[in-house]
Amino acid sequence: MSSKIAFIGLGNMGGPMAANLVRAGHKVAGFDLNPKALEALGAVGGTPVSDVHEAVEGVDVVITMLPAGAHVREIYMGKNGGGKDGAGNGLLDELAPDTLLIDCSTIDVDSARAVAAAASERGHVMVDAPVSGGVGGATAGTLTFMVGGSDEAVARARPVLEIMGKTIVHAGGAGNGQAAKICNNMILGISMLAVSEAFNLGESLGLDAQALFDIASKSSGQCWSLTSYCPVPGPVPTSPANNDYKPGFAGAMMLKDLKLSQQAAGSSGARTPLGAQAEALYEAYCEAGGASRDFSGVVTWLKTL
Ligand code: NAD
Repeated sequence: MSSKIAFIGLGNMGGPMAANLVRAGHKVAGFDLNPKALEALGAVGGTPVSDVHEAVEGVDVVITMLPAGAHVREIYMGKNGGGKDGAGNGLLDELAPDTLLIDCSTIDVDSARAVAAAASERGHVMVDAPVSGGVGGATAGTLTFMVGGSDEAVARARPVLEIMGKTIVHAGGAGNGQAAKICNNMILGISMLAVSEAFNLGESLGLDAQALFDIASKSSGQCWSLTSYCPVPGPVPTSPANNDYKPGFAGAMMLKDLKLSQQAAGSSGARTPLGAQAEALYEAYCEAGGASRDFSGVVTWLKTL
């Protein structure tokens, strides 16, 4: 069945995701602050609109793919946190009741839960559905969605998510999609540092990178950062190490996700000393020019310490 969808945030990820919805036969009205992103939606057959309120007129589904929690709060709840008097000009107050809201942005768990609660108070159905798979996955429609929300909300979102992704995992109630995303990426940040330190130590000890790879990839050191995204050139030909650390997944993105993990650890009381250390190291890597390089380039920066 064809739905009328508003897609807000048509950047590197949102642009190709919206294009896949258009290709699947949905009517997609898109809004972005960047005119170039609007033009790109028009070029693939979507309807670019220059006002977010116009984008959501008469829609069944709203999808957001925005940079951070503050943007998501403002779009849905308005500048002042919303309010039924419309003072905040958030979308929640103007959508028809029972509209399906899907936030695919990677944001803090607290914001995800606050917006979902406000949506539910106004009779809407919301899921947080952050993704992994990067721009390649967004373009190919093979993203993994980590979804938080009620069974009913996830059942309604699933057919839409299946157009943009290959794997859809229900992680629990509101905010649990974001929780899964930041826990996964904290593992990734820490494991990339661990693999990088091991290759640097191996080099200092006269151990060939390929030999270390052949052994560790078949031993207890095996992990994705080693076998799929090896930070040194050679062992995994597709990894950014073989392409001068062109991202890929930029250092700035890794730092964003590690900051979210530490914010969540702080507000939930979890102890994550390695996550904290990884955040500090990626902060320094980004300051030293790694923000726009691939996050695995941290391997060369570690040698400068
Ligand atoms: P991006 O910066 O390319 O896109 C964000 C878009 O949002 C921009 O086009 C910007 O103009 C628009 N925007 C900002 N404020 C807006 C507003 N108030 N109204 C309308 N549009 C607004 O970022 P991206 O790479 O597409 O990432 C989007 C989200 O996906 C982020 O939360 C990011 O962490 C997450 N993510 C990105 C990747 C990746 O590889 N790029 C992978 C997984 C998750």
